[in-house]
Order: sequence, then structure tokens, then C-alpha cells
Amino acid sequence: MKDLKDYVRSIPDFPEPGIIFRDITSILQSKEGLKLAIDKMQELLKDVDFDLIVGPESRGFIFGVPIAYNMNKAFIPVRKKGKLPCETVSIDYELEYGKASIEVHKDAIKPGQKVVIIDDLIATGGTIEAITKLVEMLGGEVVKIIFLIELKGLKGRERLAGFDVDAVIQYD
Ligand code: IMP
Repeated sequence: MKDLKDYVRSIPDFPEPGIIFRDITSILQSKEGLKLAIDKMQELLKDVDFDLIVGPESRGFIFGVPIAYNMNKAFIPVRKKGKLPCETVSIDYELEYGKASIEVHKDAIKPGQKVVIIDDLIATGGTIEAITKLVEMLGGEVVKIIFLIELKGLKGRERLAGFDVDAVIQYD
């Protein structure tokens, strides 16, 4: 059987020279790769007691929703500023180049709810660190954070110190 890493396409010098881009669309376009990815991520949650899955636009949706559906949980989307129609809480955070602002509906997470955060990939950890803050602003408790891919060299895990972080596959 193929390993999940066999489905990841690596593109040198994208989006700029010196960066190796790990492409997850090559996983999605294989029915075996997609199933393996969802199954392996879901396995990381088998002993976790939680209420909700939270995932960022847009690749967090791809992996978060099927896992929420399979585990009979709700899914809460975190979106770029200006996309959600009801009352939101938002947070600004630093990107490698520039700033971003993301938000979540205020009524989506209730105080005391146990939250799992899911995204495709951790690079610097900035996006997910911002999401942990949004969850906590609403009184939720982040009980686990899972990624399909971890780029270890960027030390994102250090930024998420104090949280229970897991990834299915890692690259140095
Ligand atoms: P972070 O906030 O620096 O951890 O950036 C994480 C986000 O950047 C992820 O949600 C990815 O979608 C995207 N990203 C960064 N590097 C890569 C890559 O090599 N492949 C695919 N996505 C990437």
C-alpha cells in the first residue's frame, strides 16, 4: 500500500526561489490518497473528548468537514474578514509578508466547549495561533490541534507550545 507521503507533490521554488511547496491537491485528486488522509487524521482523534471542530478557510474546510461528519460533530468555519454575515469576533495576525485578519461567528462556540482545530499544514504556526486566540476569546477550550503536514524546519510547534499538537506527516 502507498504511504501518504507518496501522494504529496513537492514543487521546488514555489511560490518563490528556495521554498519547497508541499502540494495537497495531489492527495485530493486520488481517491485512495483522500481516504488515507482523512482516516489518518481522524485516527489522531480517537481518544479525544471534544465538542466541535474548527477549521480555517480554505484547506482547513477540506479536511475538517469530513472528519466532523464522520465523528458526528459540528464544524465551525474560520474565515477571512468580511465573509461571515452575523456578529463575529476577529483577530489580526502577522504573515510572513504583511498582515491578515480572520474571524468566526460569535455564537459558534459556547463557553466551556472543547474544541479541536484542524488544518492542512503547519508552517510558522501563525494562522493556528491566531485561531487558538479566537476560540479562547469565546470561552472555548482547545483540546487538540491536528495537521496533515508539518514543516518542522519552521518551528510552528514551538509557537503552539502548551497545546496538544499532532501531524500525520512531517518534513524537515
Ligand atoms: P502558517 O500560518 O505559517 O503555519 O501557514 C500555514 C498556512 O500556509 C497553511 O494553512 C497552508 O495552507 C499554507 N502553506 C504554507 N506553506 C505551504 C506549503 O508548502 N504547502 C501548502 N500550503 C502551505
